[in-house]
Amino acid sequence: MNELMLNGIGMTSKRTRERLVSRLQKEGITSSLVLDTIQQTPRHIFVDEALSHRAYEDTALPIGFSQTLSQPYIVARMTELLVADGALKRVLEVGTGSGYQTAVLAQLADEVFSVERIRSLQKKAAKRLNLLGLHNICLKVSDGHMGWEQQAPFDGIMVTAAPAQLPQLLIDQLAVGGRMIVPVGNYEEQMLYLVTKTATGEQIREIEKVRFVPLLAGLD
Ligand code: SAH
Repeated sequence: MNELMLNGIGMTSKRTRERLVSRLQKEGITSSLVLDTIQQTPRHIFVDEALSHRAYEDTALPIGFSQTLSQPYIVARMTELLVADGALKRVLEVGTGSGYQTAVLAQLADEVFSVERIRSLQKKAAKRLNLLGLHNICLKVSDGHMGWEQQAPFDGIMVTAAPAQLPQLLIDQLAVGGRMIVPVGNYEEQMLYLVTKTATGEQIREIEKVRFVPLLAGLD
């Protein structure tokens, strides 16, 4: 990302971002690619001003419409799993929300496609991403269960809301060798999965228990 773009957006938070990164390291995040990206991405512009003083705490934050911006640890963990083999070419994100995870991904991939079902969240996210000078992003208002077939195949898919079951339609949009990170389950219990597409099917690995908002059907 162009550092100049960030200069105007509160270098005061540079120190606090450094503190966040050292906490993430203590929590087990090791990818320097991911830590560096989080270090240079201002999280405070992705929440309402009244909450911006909490933006560098390792906690989830409300973004309106009963939705949340994920805890930095989980953003880092999911991103680390997605870019385990290095930066990616084409990534699909399901659940743009605030746009923070989109901003992180856009610095680690050639192109990011992100879908969101709530139009006003998508509009706000688009403004923020523009402000950061990130232009390798395509946003769309649609039901993420469908993925983005016209732009497939993807070498990475990140789902940031939980479907009840592993989403086969999204697995179908992965390139061979591509990875998908997806939380699956209901309100009470969810598991984060890493799905790797192979020439003959897919490999599925359980990562850890998580808590996400549900992947809802249809548009708002
Ligand atoms: N990645 C986001 C996390 C937002 S929470 C961030 O960094 O802020 C999950 C988001 O998924 C919410 O914005 C919610 O509206 C969206 N969502 C839920 N179901 C969806 C669906 N079927 N299709 C697209 N987006 C969906």
